Amino acid sequence: MTKKSIKTKHGDIQLPAFMPDATYGSIRMISFSDAKLACVSEIVTTTLHIEQKIGSLYIKDFGGIHKFFGWDRPILTDSGGWQVFSLINHKNRNTNKKHSDNKNFYTEAGCSFIDETGKQFLLTPESSIQIQLNLGSDIMTALDNPISNDSSLKLRRDAVKINTLWAKRAKKYFDKEVEKFPDRPLLGAVIQGANDFELRKISACDLLELDFDVYNYGGMPLHSPISWLTESPIGFNREMLHYVADLIPNEKVKYAMGVGQPDDIAYCVDAGWNLFDTVLPTRNARHGYLYVSEGQGEDTKEYSFINKKIINKRVAYDVLHLKSKRYEFDEKPIDENCDCEACKTVGRAYLRYLIRLKDPSGFRLATIHNLRFYSKWMELLKR
Ligand SMILES: [Zn+2]
Repeated sequence: MTKKSIKTKHGDIQLPAFMPDATYGSIRMISFSDAKLACVSEIVTTTLHIEQKIGSLYIKDFGGIHKFFGWDRPILTDSGGWQVFSLINHKNRNTNKKHSDNKNFYTEAGCSFIDETGKQFLLTPESSIQIQLNLGSDIMTALDNPISNDSSLKLRRDAVKINTLWAKRAKKYFDKEVEKFPDRPLLGAVIQGANDFELRKISACDLLELDFDVYNYGGMPLHSPISWLTESPIGFNREMLHYVADLIPNEKVKYAMGVGQPDDIAYCVDAGWNLFDTVLPTRNARHGYLYVSEGQGEDTKEYSFINKKIINKRVAYDVLHLKSKRYEFDEKPIDENCDCEACKTVGRAYLRYLIRLKDPSGFRLATIHNLRFYSKWMELLKR
């Protein structure tokens, strides 16, 4: 049996659970009280962005991240490794300038990079944990070292070795710092290894020896690299996710980072994963791409459970492209089976108009709807 809940000092997380991304400390277009109305119970936020934008020492002096956000439910923080990986490997999408390769790099010591203000910044396993301790996160993450699927075998092997080394240092620092805590936070480690089964196994086995609370699936859970210009995922590596889930004992939390579409989440729950986050519901909402119950939209997506313990359970939903002309005179709510603020207050035609106008109130209502859909979807998968 996989885990049913996670105990944190800001309440229990009922599994399987989905966490919206509060990148930079904000779920785009909505407030945290809107998130509560959409039945969001836990969120994830980005350690490095917060450190760079406002500083974790400021947050600590303020009384912690929960007080600062006005959010009294569980918060998971990432390690910052993914942001640095993106900086090292990809063009800066805002300026379209490539960061100089010799100024963004990693060594055994940690990740060194030029931050948004032009200053050199060194993120180490110890400093990543210290920032998360300053924030007062409920579930922290050891600094990880993602690697591209298309890099050489030697680079992939070296990256996994460094990933383990950093996890070990992060755990040692974390254990020493939380020794005196009455309620210690939880700590997760990220399994890396790109699309290489053998390396994923080595990474998982090495990290399991260190005994973390949470084990994360790191890197891109996709067959091919996503296009950083269009942000289009190409294929979803279900086989690898299934394989890695089986490597982790069931008493541990299994966190599939960055997953995913509702049917992909259902697949992962069937495979044993029980914690998820993605920007898809919030980002898609802003494009009028809405998740609705079956029969309410255009394209039906489904998943039928095949795991021996839950066989023949079918879950399905529809996608509704609200910008389509077919909704121009549609007075119905987005989803007749939904109880969210958007479905109770506006019709499709008006919301379509607001989204085409790029009006923030339209983005807000669509985001609330999609997050409410995800919270109901997770309830469906709990049974
Ligand atoms: Zn709704």
